[in-house]
Amino acid sequence: MKELYTGSLYWPGTSNETKSFAPLQRNAKTQVLVIGGGMSGTICSYVFVNSGLSVTMVERGEVAGGSTSANTGLLQFSNDIMLSKLSKQIGLKAASAFYLACRDAVRTIGDIAAALPADVGFKARSSLYFASSEQDLPMLRDEYEAMKTCGLDVDLWEPEMIERHFPFRKSGAIVTRGDAEINPYRFVNMMANTAAEAGLNIHEQTDIVSHERLPGGGHLLRTADGFEIEAEHVVYAIGYEPEELRGQLIKAELNRSYAIVTEPQKNLASWHQRFLLWETARPYLYMRTTPGNRIIVGGLDEEVEEPLHSAAGRHRRGRKLLEQLHALFPGVQGSIAFEWSATFGESRDGLPFIGQDPQCSTVYYCLGYGGNGTVYSTIAAKLLRDLIKGERHPLTEIVQLSRPSLATV
Ligand SMILES: Cc1cc2nc3c(=O)[nH]c(=O)nc-3n(C[C@H](O)[C@H](O)[C@H](O)COP(=O)(O)OP(=O)(O)OC[C@H]3O[C@@H](n4cnc5c(N)ncnc54)[C@H](O)[C@@H]3O)c2cc1C
Repeated sequence: MKELYTGSLYWPGTSNETKSFAPLQRNAKTQVLVIGGGMSGTICSYVFVNSGLSVTMVERGEVAGGSTSANTGLLQFSNDIMLSKLSKQIGLKAASAFYLACRDAVRTIGDIAAALPADVGFKARSSLYFASSEQDLPMLRDEYEAMKTCGLDVDLWEPEMIERHFPFRKSGAIVTRGDAEINPYRFVNMMANTAAEAGLNIHEQTDIVSHERLPGGGHLLRTADGFEIEAEHVVYAIGYEPEELRGQLIKAELNRSYAIVTEPQKNLASWHQRFLLWETARPYLYMRTTPGNRIIVGGLDEEVEEPLHSAAGRHRRGRKLLEQLHALFPGVQGSIAFEWSATFGESRDGLPFIGQDPQCSTVYYCLGYGGNGTVYSTIAAKLLRDLIKGERHPLTEIVQLSRPSLATV
């Protein structure tokens, strides 16, 4: 099992609705088997069950216990790859379709959150995407024009406008409307509990160790405990663990990132409408607030796959994130309450891996690599549901594993 994070996580302590699901202790048969009970597997299972499919979800550890618990909960339609760059890579029409699908996915997450029986911290927010340096301004202006043309709800703020709303000045920023924040841990746990009541079979502590294709077209999977699951369709939602595929189908890099959560702040009045903040530099710094008036800051990505083991090393990065927060908001008081380091996957062409296995049309992948993993999982849930039902989805060619943009990277 891959170690996905080190340090102290914030979200697990915010949830008391976590349920346990018994391991699989008999042979089973299902229409759809979803492997992985993180954000990706759970959104897929939730959407599949609500679309009338018969679904079993198996998780080797605990639901939401993987990368999902290290997620900082920003939901944005802007991606790590800017719209203007993506347009050059895959064409304006496809890039616009992808960005609009991300915008719609944030709305879908809001709809799912509203239908859950408990608050999962979903709040509509705007984002401030600021130029890290004067040199990035032309790029930012191009991005603004591309977003406007695409029909996204955006504004371009000049330095004076930024200074009027925040205690810092930047040479320019795009304000995007239609973003949101969420508590990813509660969201996934609540979706799992609700889908289980609607008929989803969930088994934790159930590790899939082999997968065989049956002559009739189905699949036979075995668990580490020696039980068999027969399935018509198999969805791999295994996060950053598809080792055997990496370098072949999954062209991605695994890096590590850092995040901190501060103690609650007495006053967040200088933080205009609790915008989500991020910047044009790569790797980027990002930050948000929480319902309990804490501040979450993330960034400082490093090209190392393993999360950092040294507590002193994590604390050094944590102090640096805190300094960057203070540089923007000198008024915040500051000690760090939680700090962690976590593995983070990025695809080489900036798009997630969603779709059928090129070798087998009843095996699917839901691998939302990139800073927008939750948004990608939501797109995946609807796309894979359509494929399973034999229907077409407009984004299939853009995100599938055999897409042309992966051939050259
Ligand atoms: C520091 C950090 C900050 C982030 N911030 C954001 C953010 O603000 N917004 C955002 O949208 N995304 C963010 N992400 C990305 C996000 O965390 C991931 O994209 C998302 O959580 C991945 O969910 P997942 O379900 O694909 O993976 P995971 O949560 O890792 O779930 C995969 C699960 O599959 C299980 N599994 C693997 N193999 C097997 C097997 N053989 N049998 C059974 N189970 C198996 C694992 O145990 C694991 O629980 C962030 C990531 C990091 C590291």
